[in-house]
Amino acid sequence: MSTPQLVGYDGQPRLIGAWLATNRTAMLAEHAAINGPLPLGAVSRLMDMVVAAGLRGRGGAWFPTGRKLGTVARNGQTAGGCHVVVNGAESEPAAGKDKLLLRAAPHLVLDGAELAALAIGAKRVTVCVHRGTGLAQHVAGALAERAAAGWGGKAVGLTVEVMEPPRWYVSSESTALANFVGGGEGKPRDVSAYREGVGGKPTLVSNTETLAHLGLIARHGPDWFRMAGTAEAPGTALFTVSGAVRARGVYEFPVGVTGNEIIRAAGGPTEPLQALLLGGYGGAWVPPGVLATPFTPEALRPHGASPGAGVVVALPLGACGLVETVRVAAWLASQNARQCGPCFNGLPAIADDLARLTWRRDRVALDRLRFRMRMVDKRGACGHPDGVVKLADSALRVFGACVDKHLSGQGCPGLYRPPMLPVPAPPSRSEGWK
Ligand code: SF4
Repeated sequence: MSTPQLVGYDGQPRLIGAWLATNRTAMLAEHAAINGPLPLGAVSRLMDMVVAAGLRGRGGAWFPTGRKLGTVARNGQTAGGCHVVVNGAESEPAAGKDKLLLRAAPHLVLDGAELAALAIGAKRVTVCVHRGTGLAQHVAGALAERAAAGWGGKAVGLTVEVMEPPRWYVSSESTALANFVGGGEGKPRDVSAYREGVGGKPTLVSNTETLAHLGLIARHGPDWFRMAGTAEAPGTALFTVSGAVRARGVYEFPVGVTGNEIIRAAGGPTEPLQALLLGGYGGAWVPPGVLATPFTPEALRPHGASPGAGVVVALPLGACGLVETVRVAAWLASQNARQCGPCFNGLPAIADDLARLTWRRDRVALDRLRFRMRMVDKRGACGHPDGVVKLADSALRVFGACVDKHLSGQGCPGLYRPPMLPVPAPPSRSEGWK
């Protein structure tokens, strides 16, 4: 079986094309027919290939994947071993792309994870998936299929397993996942997983989508990968589009697509838009004018935003951006891991100030909120408080006129509209952090 030759970017989805055509999981035989065999011959060159491809992590940070691989490989040599964790835990409530990808093309993700493990010298791969979604059984089924066919896994000296971390928002953070996989709680730590991850060993924690791209780069090479996307952010990316659009869902586009093209693909807006939430709940609100901007980290940075985890939520004119932000900020505050004072004490206080200025015309709360945001930003062991500050800060900027309206007691029709952004029920106390 040879790898199908792809000669150029045809504008078609690379990761979810088969799913869109069939609306079902690509079983191993179909995956092999579409993508060719597991390219073990590429393992020795894989790190260089990923660097040349310019692949950047699709979990939110857009960090260069090749650099991550090199760091863990070097640290692993010194530490006498390393580990790979596939981050499919996707705790962003408005995101669904990693869950979809694991359902649609589990073998592409697993190929990428196993090839990355072989390239950096890891012997064990742990796939972490969102608890309570049935994904663990789905991935376990894919692993059984591979074992039966002698495709990767034990046949290439790897142990691959699936785990379900707790559903807390911060439990999908890389150090929290490494801690959980190593037998601890799913809480962030203040030491990088690249240095000290699972069982104290250097650990590559990489997003599901990132590893799927890696599985394709190993087959088709860096030049092919760069045929889509921009020079700084090559390839395609998955976006979860929701809110006031006609066809909510997960879409795959070359990186650098404009927001207008994304919204158009999602059927267009159902109402005139007031703002968009980009990246995720730790992302930023932007005005609709930003839709003309290419969605790359570099192009969105001047707008205080990033593609992040590919979340795009369209907020209609009739909704209240402040009310939406208050709900999300309160939920994010409830998700902190109770380890760092500025986060544990500061996030509920920030959510409370936002609620007071939104619902109670409390002008003092606005000044206090700005002060508290400065006090909390970059003061946690992980980036959770920074994300809340970013969200709140962008809300004050983008909904500035709305803030004035609320404080002066002018009517806001959006106050009585049902909330739009999903806020999941928190994990039960008995579920804890394990
Ligand atoms: S900053 Fe917050 S979420 Fe992060 S480790 Fe500290 S308490 Fe936990």
